[in-house]
Amino acid sequence: MALQLNNLRLPAWLLPATWPRTAGQPETARLDIDDGIVTRVQPASGPGEGLDCLGALALPGLVEPHAHLDKTYTRRRLGAITPGLLGAIEATQADRAFWTPEDLRQRASRALGQARSHGVTHLRTHLDWWSAETPTAWQVIRELAQDTFFHLEQVALLPLPLLADKTVVQRIAHTLANDTQAPRSVLGAFIHSSNFNAQALHNLLACAAEAGLDLDLHIDEELNTAACGLATVARAATAMQFPGRIVCSHACALSTYPEAQAQATLDDVARAPITLVALPATNLYLQDAVHGRTPRLRGLTLLKEARLRGIALLLGSDNVQDAFCPIGNYDPLSTLQLAVLSAQLDDVFDTWSQTVCRADWLSRAEHGADLPGKAAHLTLLHSTDPYSWPADTARSVLHGEHVPEAFSTYLRGLA
Ligand SMILES: [Zn+2]
Repeated sequence: MALQLNNLRLPAWLLPATWPRTAGQPETARLDIDDGIVTRVQPASGPGEGLDCLGALALPGLVEPHAHLDKTYTRRRLGAITPGLLGAIEATQADRAFWTPEDLRQRASRALGQARSHGVTHLRTHLDWWSAETPTAWQVIRELAQDTFFHLEQVALLPLPLLADKTVVQRIAHTLANDTQAPRSVLGAFIHSSNFNAQALHNLLACAAEAGLDLDLHIDEELNTAACGLATVARAATAMQFPGRIVCSHACALSTYPEAQAQATLDDVARAPITLVALPATNLYLQDAVHGRTPRLRGLTLLKEARLRGIALLLGSDNVQDAFCPIGNYDPLSTLQLAVLSAQLDDVFDTWSQTVCRADWLSRAEHGADLPGKAAHLTLLHSTDPYSWPADTARSVLHGEHVPEAFSTYLRGLA
């Protein structure tokens, strides 16, 4: 089976530097797909060759780099919650009593269905891991991962104080590294000024390196100028030449540092094997949150400054309809829309759309953004105007050679 998609508009970041342009805009492309694999991407050929996509915008499969499938869709049963991050953590700890295998399976499946319907092909979920024992959710999500075509990754989300005992970290790292049924496991932790422990952080980095695991950290999710998690991790990772990838999620405190300190911290991050993940929905909902008062500070990490330094940068949904955030729908394009407004982003299609597509930035694997040789998962947008996107997030999702009927209908409307 083979398919040619002609006249698709791909984002500039996905194309080689030598790609032809007209008035600064990349010209449209022709994609050859064979046996479910993109075999060639070249400038569009003349009319009559393949399916004419009439300049429709297209992206690779979307990535959801930061979810919590164990907490999702619990908001309705939580009652009143104290505003802010620590109140949400408290409410969640109480809810864990209801996390039976059936409850977890039902809520996580619903979340995966939502993500899939939006075109997500790579999803990373954090799962609370609060003692030396493996939590129920680890096994439940692992089983769901067998049933889905997603590239699904699990992160063990550990409280930092638990890692003060190096033997505990070693045991958990060993469990993850040797879990052949969940080969994409990642070690993680919650690092906050309320629980900071430099020795525990050192243990975490050392044990992850020893076990060959990547890291994914909830870090400095606060507005406290004394929070020093990101700076400590960046310097330590460089000093020890950490061999894997360290994903640092949130980093809200950067937004409150004096300018010179923020810039110096980002310089340290740029030298380390660190990917930053910004989570606008939960930051807007939880930071500077007090009863009966409109928030003044928004807690978004420094996206533009990070990008200027070439730091790998992704956007995630984080919490969806739980104690941390009452809304959300596992749509990376909704997250991107929110980031456009809250961080005042420009050139969204050609530059910033990579923050919801670059799954390669999550791991230690070779980094690269090109399509040839990869599975043909494409997000075909029902839009031809890169300047007004993503005002309209309508799309069809192509897997392999089957052109979705909704996309054909969209094209007929354009013709
Ligand atoms: Zn999170």
